[in-house]
Amino acid sequence: MRKAPLTVCVVGGGFTGAAASIACLARIDRPFRLIVVEPSASLGRGVAYGAHHPLHLLNVRTRDLSVRAGQPGDFLNWAFRQLDQGENHAGLHDGLAHTFLPRQLFGEYVRERFFEAVEGRGDVELQIVNAVATSCVKEGNRFTLCFDRAETLQADVVLLATAYGLHASIPTGALAPFDALPPERISGAKTMALIGSGLTMVDVLLGARRDGFQGKVTVISKRGQLPRPHASKGVVPRESGLSRSKRLSSLTTAVAIACAAAEAHRTPWQAVINSVRSSLQDIWQGLPVEEQARFLRHVRPLWDAHRHRLPLEVHGRLQAEFNEGRAVLLRGQVTKAERDGDGFRLMLRPRGSQRVEALTVDRAFDCTGHRPDLNSPLIQSLVAQGAARPDAHRLGLAVEPNGQVLSKSGPPTRGLFALGPLGQGSLWEITAVPEIVRQCDAAAQSLAALEPSAEREVELSS
Ligand SMILES: Cc1cc2nc3c(=O)[nH]c(=O)nc-3n(C[C@H](O)[C@H](O)[C@H](O)COP(=O)(O)OP(=O)(O)OC[C@H]3O[C@@H](n4cnc5c(N)ncnc54)[C@H](O)[C@@H]3O)c2cc1C
Repeated sequence: MRKAPLTVCVVGGGFTGAAASIACLARIDRPFRLIVVEPSASLGRGVAYGAHHPLHLLNVRTRDLSVRAGQPGDFLNWAFRQLDQGENHAGLHDGLAHTFLPRQLFGEYVRERFFEAVEGRGDVELQIVNAVATSCVKEGNRFTLCFDRAETLQADVVLLATAYGLHASIPTGALAPFDALPPERISGAKTMALIGSGLTMVDVLLGARRDGFQGKVTVISKRGQLPRPHASKGVVPRESGLSRSKRLSSLTTAVAIACAAAEAHRTPWQAVINSVRSSLQDIWQGLPVEEQARFLRHVRPLWDAHRHRLPLEVHGRLQAEFNEGRAVLLRGQVTKAERDGDGFRLMLRPRGSQRVEALTVDRAFDCTGHRPDLNSPLIQSLVAQGAARPDAHRLGLAVEPNGQVLSKSGPPTRGLFALGPLGQGSLWEITAVPEIVRQCDAAAQSLAALEPSAEREVELSS
């Protein structure tokens, strides 16, 4: 008899799945089996870093991105090596640190680091399952996973990295933001409506312009908050002096005062927001559920507009769209978007009014953002058996900071983790690269510490 190696199954091979795999390969220092389940061919890229538009830029500076925990400059060094051609040009390194590179390039970097990490571990058996996981059932200390087009598998540990699921549902009925339309369907249009006013709206608008769209854009959003710009240079987080209040109103006032004080001392307000971000998971978990709900209802649009920022140059192009009248911003809610011949007819209720107006456009895209699909068969299977439960706001699953999933009865389910955006309702600040990488590392550390008793004894065949 010998111990069978631990089997770790990562479900979802987007950015989070790749980061989780890399963390396990770095942290688990004994032989193990790594299974990565991903139905698409673009392992490591996911929805953010794929090939939708090669020119879409990251909204984070090169120096602040890394898929390796504890190596903050890793993407910068990788990008530098792609461009430097052996000259070791210090100016290029410094310049790159502050730039916003194409997202597709970041996807390439993540893929490369994933396969390097696998190659560096001759004692780890990797299996990539090109399928959709349709259920996960806990039996004793193990999980049985079923797929749409692959054999059933068993694992000791399951790391869910499925984020928003397979098919983002579009509640309004408009086109999904990254629906690949032939460029002539964009360039030939005269009018376009973009529902939502965040970073995805900016991607779609500027992508349409690149595809030759010269018509008028109507941006519709409930609050009309547009993304703010990054500071001209990277800023050092500035301590906001935020009290650990359990009242949302005290927190928002403290942030506003800290931003004003920073500006008065010629420090960009962005430094304060960066500082708040670094303690936001703790702040969020300290707030009562009702205060969290109040944040979601009233403060979120303003916070998102300051937290999810645009590179200065991109912000300038967005401003020019509105200043020059090529785009207009309407405050209101789209209640429905119906096909109308080749175009769309939107039913729109302006803010503060009960009246519903119709707006007819050639193209309409829903840019209101993704939400995890709690109704997917995989998530449903876990919730139905009580191994997982939705968070209080039904934004995802209830998790601990390291991603460990909380069961219906309260305590964590041994061996089950939900990483990245699936934990947004529990942790709030967990949808972007630095937080995802930190969480994956914490999850991998806890796996590395799993007692060998968790591993099964198997009979040797010879
Ligand atoms: C457009 C966009 C731009 C962004 N830009 C930045 C940025 O510049 N900087 C930053 O820090 N953050 C950025 N983010 C945020 C962050 O990086 C993403 O949220 C992150 O990529 C999430 O990755 P993920 O792997 O969790 O999700 P996804 O990329 O959605 O990957 C999930 C994967 O799971 C698979 N999957 C789903 N269900 C199943 C199933 N049942 N079985 C098997 N596989 C399944 C899917 O096929 C998919 O590949 C951006 C996000 C978006 C959407």
